[in-house]
Amino acid sequence: MLVGFLLAAMLVPAVVAYPGRDVNALSGRYVLITPAIGAYRKPFRAFLTTRELDVMTRMGARLRAARKVPLRVVNTGVFHVEPGSGDSPLYLAQRTVLRELQRVLEKYNGTIADWRVDIVVGRSQAYLKSTLSALGCNANFSSTDGVVQMGAALCGRHYLADNLTGYLFLRSSDDILTGAMERAREPRVGNIEYLIAIRNLSGLAHEWAHIYRAAGQNGRVFTDEPAWVREGLAEIWAGIAIVNSNIARMTYTDWHVIRLRRFLDWSRRCNVKLIDFRTGSAATNGCEYFIGPLAIELLIARHGGLENLIKVFHLNDPEQGFLDDFEEVYGMTLGDFEKEADAYIAGVRQAELTR
Ligand SMILES: [Zn+2]
Repeated sequence: MLVGFLLAAMLVPAVVAYPGRDVNALSGRYVLITPAIGAYRKPFRAFLTTRELDVMTRMGARLRAARKVPLRVVNTGVFHVEPGSGDSPLYLAQRTVLRELQRVLEKYNGTIADWRVDIVVGRSQAYLKSTLSALGCNANFSSTDGVVQMGAALCGRHYLADNLTGYLFLRSSDDILTGAMERAREPRVGNIEYLIAIRNLSGLAHEWAHIYRAAGQNGRVFTDEPAWVREGLAEIWAGIAIVNSNIARMTYTDWHVIRLRRFLDWSRRCNVKLIDFRTGSAATNGCEYFIGPLAIELLIARHGGLENLIKVFHLNDPEQGFLDDFEEVYGMTLGDFEKEADAYIAGVRQAELTR
C-alpha cells in the first residue's frame, strides 16, 4: 500500500546550490535532470556516486532488454470505473503504465495471478467502497483513517482500489480527504509538481506488482519477506514500467533521481540498516518505500537482472520461505546482500546530504 509516510513528503528544493567540500571527496559526477512530467522551475543537477552511476548504466541495459515484449497479456484485470473518471488523464496514464508492467512480467514468463483481479477506480469513497463491497470485498481501512487513501491491494490481493482523488490532492499526512476534493476538477498534469506527478504514475502498477508477487501463494506473501523487499520490489517494477512507457522523454536515471532521491528527505529521516526492517521497528516505518527500491535496483543491476528476481518469485517454496528461496537463487544470504546494499545506500545518502 502507499500510505502514511509516503504522504508525509517533505518536498526538498530541486535546485543544487554549491557542492560542499565532502562531495568532492565522494567519487562520482553530476547529472542534469529534466522532469518529463509535471511542473518544475528548471532542470536541476544531482550528484551521483560512481557506484550509483554504474547501477544506472546497468539498469538502463536491463530496461532495454525488458522492452522487447510480447503483445499478449493473459490477466489484465477487470476494471470498474466510476462514471466521470473514465477519461481522467491520471487514470489513463496509470493504466498505460500498468499495461506496460503486465507485458514486462509476461516477457519473463512471470506467473501472474491466475485469479480474477477486480480493479476499482474512482474519485469518491462512496463509489470505491460500495463497488468493492458489491464485488465481495469488505476491506478494513482502519489503518488508513477509514478511507481508501490512494492505491491498495485488498482482500487477499484479489482486488485493487485506486482513489484518484488521493493521488491528485493529498500532499501531507495531515491532509484529510474531503467532498470538495472529490468534486474538484482534475488539475492538468502540467500544473502538478513533478515529484507528485511522477509518483502518481505508479498507482496501479505498484499495487499490481504486489498482486503479482503473491501469485504463487494464492495472494499470500511469506512472513519472512522483509518490508524493504516487499515495497522495494513493487516500486521498482512500477518504475521500470514508467520509464519504459515514457521512453522518449525519461531515462531510468531521471526516474531514480526524482522518485528515490528527491521525493522525500529520506537521507536524514531514514538512517537505518536494511536488517532493521526485519524486526518491524517503528524507526523504519515508511523508509522501506525509499531504501527498499535503492536496494532492489542494486540487486537487479549487479546480481542477475530481472530474471533472477522472477526465479525467486517462481520458487515460492513453502518448506523454506523467502530467506532460503533468496539464497538458493542468488548463492548468497539475504544478510550478505543487505550489507552490500547498505554500503551502496550509504554512498547515495552521503551524496544527497552533501549536495
Ligand atoms: Zn506497496
